[in-house]
Amino acid sequence: MKDTELYAALLHLRHPWRVTKVKVDIAAKRIDVWIEHAPDTKWLCPECHKQAPLYDHSEEREWRHLDTCDCQTFVHTRPPRVNCKDHGVKQIGPTWANPGSHYTMKFESHVIDTLKECDVTGTTRLTGTSWDEAWGIMEKAVKRGQFRKELRIPQRLSIDEKAFAKRHRYETLVCDLDRGTVEYVVDDREQASLEKYYSQFTPEERAGVKAVAMDMWDPYIAATKVFIKEAADKIVFDKFHIVRCVTEAVDKVRRAEAKQLANRGDESLKGTRHLWLANENNVPEWRKPEFDAIRKMNLKTGRAWAIKEALRKLWGYSYPARAEAFFSRWYFWATHSRLKPIIAAARTIKRHLPNVLTYFKHRITNALAEGLNSKIQMVKEMACGFRNREHYKTAIYFHCGGLDLYPRREQSEPC
Ligand SMILES: [Zn+2]
Repeated sequence: MKDTELYAALLHLRHPWRVTKVKVDIAAKRIDVWIEHAPDTKWLCPECHKQAPLYDHSEEREWRHLDTCDCQTFVHTRPPRVNCKDHGVKQIGPTWANPGSHYTMKFESHVIDTLKECDVTGTTRLTGTSWDEAWGIMEKAVKRGQFRKELRIPQRLSIDEKAFAKRHRYETLVCDLDRGTVEYVVDDREQASLEKYYSQFTPEERAGVKAVAMDMWDPYIAATKVFIKEAADKIVFDKFHIVRCVTEAVDKVRRAEAKQLANRGDESLKGTRHLWLANENNVPEWRKPEFDAIRKMNLKTGRAWAIKEALRKLWGYSYPARAEAFFSRWYFWATHSRLKPIIAAARTIKRHLPNVLTYFKHRITNALAEGLNSKIQMVKEMACGFRNREHYKTAIYFHCGGLDLYPRREQSEPC
């Protein structure tokens, strides 16, 4: 088999395209392949798809293709131009790449696959691309995916805030709980942030929303009440955020008490922070004896912890009336604990109780899309290499957006 035939087969070239020359440079680990069309080819105008005569050829162009063995491989051609009687002179794009791209679609897809498996720096090493090239492919893939995606509002939403970098900067993430995808990422966690998302849809479309899981965060509540009809029945305050509110109160009690004890030379609470913050089942086996022993010491922190752990039972009820009765007992206990942070947390939850109890109607939490949260966490960890917020958002959409990312030949798409 001749090298030109071999490459025509490897590149899946079909009439009218054929390989006319192959240049191998082993020292440079590089292979160049020249492609031309048959001289008697009948061309169609790319606009109207009617037959049009060949006009001339554009400058030679080069595309990076999948490597051959260990050699970077490039294909070259001079794209033909036709002269349509209605549309004038038009270039015929090659079938292996999108207009304007420096890569064949196969190579671009390979980089996308690699980006899905590791971070941008890892991708540059595995594919022999620069950071800007690999990043450019990711950005383009996200644009393409968003262009293709149908604009629709999910029936069951989750609204969550994620800290971006340090210094208390936040992004608001809107997720589709049924598909497990991030639908929208917007700066900050203000009312206006979430309203930007809702306002993309008509009132009829928004009426299709059945339930929204979120934290007890006033700006999100306000935005949802403005845009979603009967929001009072649809908002569900998320279980994990509610428990976290009490967990933070436990931590305040612990800090104050640890200080008091330390002043008396008692270091019982030293190094125990994580034990009180974890839920009971997550205390590591080897620390259980130690934890059991401090809990028997009748400390304020121990009482606060027991109140926090008891609250978790709320979500185990099947009937809302029973859950509500349980909450009343819990609330009495918490508010009579003489632990100020616990009393404050209990009052916050009580104030939001109707939409804590909507859980028993909709049974959603922010964590329903379980795999999604760990993916977002992974993107956040990789985000240390990102130079700005827009990069972070792009990476979230790329990994968690459920987008159709791969290049295809479609005339109407951006490239
Ligand atoms: Zn035409």
